[in-house]
Amino acid sequence: MAKAGDLQVLLVEDEAQMRRFLRSSLPAHGYELIEAATGRDAITQAGTRNPDIILLDLGLPDMDGVEIAKQLRTFTKAPIIVLSARGQERDKVDALDAGADDYLTKPFALSELLARMRVARRHIEGRSDEKIGRAHV
Ligand code: CA
Repeated sequence: MAKAGDLQVLLVEDEAQMRRFLRSSLPAHGYELIEAATGRDAITQAGTRNPDIILLDLGLPDMDGVEIAKQLRTFTKAPIIVLSARGQERDKVDALDAGADDYLTKPFALSELLARMRVARRHIEGRSDEKIGRAHV
């Protein structure tokens, strides 16, 4: 159940196991999860739900994550954290250049993901007090 002050997180991931893992762990840490299993769905959900943070897998069935990051950046400033099994320097550079803010190589520890989400959260707070400022009052 979402609580007031929870941040909305759009998880773009086609692996059911990873979705289950994050669905069972993130809500306890103050995040409300929205899920998308394809790039097309991710762009639709990002446009309609306006999430605070986006977690993006690069290997999706319909589109490449780098292309999704580029398209997301045309209309949202939400921090994008890439979660990918691709660990090559080139993949990271491409994703970051396409508009991603951070990059986590799978498999990762939940504690590291949470730490990076806190960093993203601080960036949002530094940028605007609209959504988060109210939650802290
Ligand atoms: Ca995948």
